[in-house]
Amino acid sequence: MYEWSAEVIAVGNEILTGRTVNTNSAFIAARLTSLGFQVRRVTVVGDEVEEIRECFLEALGRNPKLIISSGGLGPTYDDRTVEGLAAALGRKLVYNQEALNEVTRKYKEKGLELTEERLKMALFPEGATPIPNEAGIAPGVYVEVNNTEILLAPGVPKEMEEVTETFLRSYLKRRPNVFYYEESLTVRGVMESALAPHIKRVVREYGLYIKTHPKGHEINDPYLEVQIAGSSYDKDEITRKVKNVREIISRIAMSLGGKLT
Ligand code: ATP
Ligand code: MG
Repeated sequence: MYEWSAEVIAVGNEILTGRTVNTNSAFIAARLTSLGFQVRRVTVVGDEVEEIRECFLEALGRNPKLIISSGGLGPTYDDRTVEGLAAALGRKLVYNQEALNEVTRKYKEKGLELTEERLKMALFPEGATPIPNEAGIAPGVYVEVNNTEILLAPGVPKEMEEVTETFLRSYLKRRPNVFYYEESLTVRGVMESALAPHIKRVVREYGLYIKTHPKGHEINDPYLEVQIAGSSYDKDEITRKVKNVREIISRIAMSLGGKLT
């Protein structure tokens, strides 16, 4: 069976306390899904080395193809993602020359001094490489372990997007093409609970991802969006399959008294 699993980790106490909404994880999860990955977990962890270590170890234990985290790469004492990952991998923290050049260049350009805090952004787990961050200072951190590729991206959303996209561009060149395809349909007049057993049966038969998103009220104004999605190495095959299942669900919905809108 086709399987490209991925995990997303957000690091930061501000997310645990609800001060910051975890939009980074939503961005990364949506982006990976659109590329044909199955995102299996999205985890949030605080700024503690031990907890970050555990979090990466658990994720690695599930052998995903890819782990992308955001947050905690900056210059302050509470930015500990790199330390946590190094601990999880049992690797030393060392200055990465390329990252050091990047960080140095950015501060020197502005005539600023290189303090210990600033240089900290070039401390990498041994064997990791930097992903350039043109939107900020701290480079992303990339490392591969036992067939799992790991990317640490910064927390500031603009920087996270920049580093993630830069990484994905090179990643996609190395990976066999996987196609993700989705369609949806909207139905009025069928309760989600009435459609549910039919969807269950269709999912079992066709193995696609089918999800009902209720838009109205289950009893008073049943109104659903049905999303049908799947991934495959074969673009035509997955497109045909999704379209076929959309047709099947449309017919079921109509037979239950629904109207397609
Ligand atoms: P910095 O160099 O700014 O310290 P960093 O990589 O260390 O960057 P954090 O300190 O963890 O990142 O977060 C910086 C800011 O980015 C936070 O104050 C928050 O506003 C935002 N941020 C962090 N994580 C997320 C997230 N998961 N979703 C949305 N915004 C986030
Ligand atoms: Mg920070």
